[in-house]
Amino acid sequence: MSKYDVAVIGSGPGGYVAAIRCAQLGMKTAIIEKYNTLGGTCLNVGCIPSKALLDSSHHYEDAIKHFEEHGIELPGKVKLNFKKMIERKASVVEQTTKGINFLMDKNSIDVITGVGSFKDETHIVVSTEGEDDKTIEAKNIIIATGSKPATLPFIELDKERIITSTEALSLKEIPKHMIVIGGGVIGLELGQVYRRLGAEVTVIEYMDRIIPTMDAAQSKELMKVMKKQGVKFNLSHKVSKVERKKNEVTITATDKKDKEVTFTGDYCLVSVGRRPFTDGLKAENAGVKVNERGQIEVNEHLQTNVKNIYAIGDVVRGAMLAHKAEEEGVFVAETLADQKPHINYNLIPGVVYTWPEVASVGKTEEQLKEDNVEYKSGQFPMRALGRSRASGDTDGFIKILSDKETDEVLGVHMVGARAADLIAEAVAAMEFRASAEDIARMSHAHPTYAEAVKEAALAATDNRALHM
Ligand code: FAD
Ligand code: NAD
Repeated sequence: MSKYDVAVIGSGPGGYVAAIRCAQLGMKTAIIEKYNTLGGTCLNVGCIPSKALLDSSHHYEDAIKHFEEHGIELPGKVKLNFKKMIERKASVVEQTTKGINFLMDKNSIDVITGVGSFKDETHIVVSTEGEDDKTIEAKNIIIATGSKPATLPFIELDKERIITSTEALSLKEIPKHMIVIGGGVIGLELGQVYRRLGAEVTVIEYMDRIIPTMDAAQSKELMKVMKKQGVKFNLSHKVSKVERKKNEVTITATDKKDKEVTFTGDYCLVSVGRRPFTDGLKAENAGVKVNERGQIEVNEHLQTNVKNIYAIGDVVRGAMLAHKAEEEGVFVAETLADQKPHINYNLIPGVVYTWPEVASVGKTEEQLKEDNVEYKSGQFPMRALGRSRASGDTDGFIKILSDKETDEVLGVHMVGARAADLIAEAVAAMEFRASAEDIARMSHAHPTYAEAVKEAALAATDNRALHM
């Protein structure tokens, strides 16, 4: 029987990063993955393929809508080859997942393919169809089994017309009318992809705003821009029925006046969140506690109730984000090496990769009000930047919230071109507990979108924005 210092179950961004860091720290490490490709949700059916389609569809939209204004004339009509777009996405995924195999090899990590289940607290049985079970022993075990799409109890996902993000990333045709249940990250990113490619897109959201966990100003701005792009929104709608007849899908919902409304389309994307995944893990054989939400319960060290078993990523509490899972992977590896790592969960940024992009870190205005924190707010519109006018990306704003007394930055919320990258400056500033004035006094290259960060900081400091 093979023996390891650490065995990691699941090879998503949590699991594979944990394995690399364990190996770097000198531990003999194995990683167990039930699929033939490594990388988990993120690389196979999540972050990477969705961004590949967002980028491809963005190029297409530019070609049909914006080339002309830049003085670029094409000899004929722009033609969309959707099959090729999907093939390109698949090849991006393939290159990226193969990169993980390379990293496992480089770090001498044993990759074991099959479903891992606990035999007891130190033994894992790995089962692959058509092969004999294999048992390995590990002093420490990291559960990184991730998540799967959630659904509503009355919805039967047929995975053809009533689909989740996984199927939406590999469709064979462009929907005529895609009805999206859930105006969160997945619904808006994939809704925008298909809108750009010509589908009619209708979003049905239960809450009174889209991306409800982000700052309300971001919800408002993104909805305004996406409406201009032709996406239809139905907020405060409670879906009660989803039915398919041949190629038609009908969704029934009640609006806030309790009136029943129906929506008919040819595809329905169900994007109402994800659930932690522990099926087949047999956590009970090791005595590991799973809570009523299906999450593996962990303490502040990401340790389960069994002292040599840890859990990270989507399968534990907190934001379901790849970079959060990665931080936790490193945290556990370093804990096992007797180091003293730390994670500041308040400073895990959240990004929606629509265009304009939406990015946030720290507290929203709503949270500060709820916590009775006195704060100042400085906001700067992207349209006031030379850089935005040069590129034609004038939608959005940057808002900085800082403590009324100390001026410490408490939250930064953005909508705009390249906000996904700009948010890193806010994370760095907040990690070093900068004040808004600290940011305002730093030189920002001209002309860049980042100048809006400086201007918002100036606005928060003493209403001193220079270009507004
Ligand atoms: P996962 O990536 O889910 O990996 C878990 C792995 O464990 C899987 O490979 C699974 O097969 C394996 N596994 C499970 N059980 C067993 C078992 N018993 N034995 C062996 N193997 C097992 N996050 C971002 O930060 N940015 C984004 O842009 C982003 N985009 C996304 C887009 C979409 C469409 C989706 C669906 C998600 C997106 N996410 C994004 C979320 C991100 O994918 C997850 O937060 C991240 O993958 C979680 O990592 P993880 O390692 O915890 O789990
Ligand atoms: P989400 O939590 O972002 O959004 C779900 C939305 O569905 C919410 O707005 C919620 O109010 C709504 N909803 C819930 N029940 C509903 C109902 N019955 N009827 C109508 N609306 C309903 O979840 P998601 O978009 O499915 O994404 C799942 C996870 O994947 C998220 O936690 C997210 O962090 C992660 N993800 C991240 C990224 C990114 O970082 N860019 C991209 C995709 C997914």
